[in-house]
Amino acid sequence: MSVSPQVLLQHHLKQLRLPTFYKEYDKLAKQCAAEGVDHPRYLLRLAELELLDRERRTTERRIHNARFPAVKSFETFDFTAIPSLNKMLVMEMARCEFISRRENVIALGNSGTGKTHAALALGLSACQRGHAVGFITAAQLVHQLMEARDEKRLIRFQTQLGNYKLLIVDELGYVPLSLTGAELLFDVFSQRYERGSTLVTSNLPFEEWTSVFGSERLTGALLDRLTHHVHILEFNGDSYRLKQSKARKRGKQPASEQSASGQIANHDPETGEISDT
Ligand code: ADP
Ligand code: MG
Repeated sequence: MSVSPQVLLQHHLKQLRLPTFYKEYDKLAKQCAAEGVDHPRYLLRLAELELLDRERRTTERRIHNARFPAVKSFETFDFTAIPSLNKMLVMEMARCEFISRRENVIALGNSGTGKTHAALALGLSACQRGHAVGFITAAQLVHQLMEARDEKRLIRFQTQLGNYKLLIVDELGYVPLSLTGAELLFDVFSQRYERGSTLVTSNLPFEEWTSVFGSERLTGALLDRLTHHVHILEFNGDSYRLKQSKARKRGKQPASEQSASGQIANHDPETGEISDT
């Protein structure tokens, strides 16, 4: 009993990982015959379809692997709601050249001002541009680091974190860290320094980071690494959900882009303004 060529073809193309070839070859053949398209062009079209599909599948896998809690983009982000945020800078950053330059991003501001939304949008954009992205909250990351350490697989976990071209650490500052937690988190930032981009969101101005990390020395060393090549995104304003407060008067504040080593921005708790010192 002979196996039909279709069955064999399906098997071989599957083996070769060319699912789109299998899915499209018949329909496209009929189309090409009708249009009088020759064999090389038929195969070319088929190969192009496979490539397009493969790109789409790879991007989807990257987005899946990033473990975003939600998929959000700048298309649904209203920049007019947050005038302190430099739209030009953010849109430039969405092109993700900062990732190739291994620069960091710190998004600072009150709760509900769109930090996570913007971080997710940057992460999505990075996935679409071919970068490996990881998204995790600071609390989860510390928890997973402690767990990995207890299970004697810390180095493997750290290597895994090191593979991300962009690591997004959300909500630093909501929970104070234990000394071990702080040290483990410090190691992550330290190991990524000049090797990969890290995006941190926090509701706390820099001078309050010591309260999270416990130690002034550790906080200083951490900020030194994190802010060496950094873009600071300011989310000064009221919660996006509190729409009635949107019209509140705000002063001037071009988003500061910092690059000087060890320069730490000042945060005025009254106005929420962040300024270089
Ligand atoms: P944060 O992380 O600063 O606490 P979020 O990013 O979680 O704030 O924002 C809270 C909610 O409001 C989210 O659903 C987010 O999508 C939405 N949101 C915040 N800012 C904006 C904005 N400028 N445009 C559109 N949606 C926004
Ligand atoms: Mg958030």
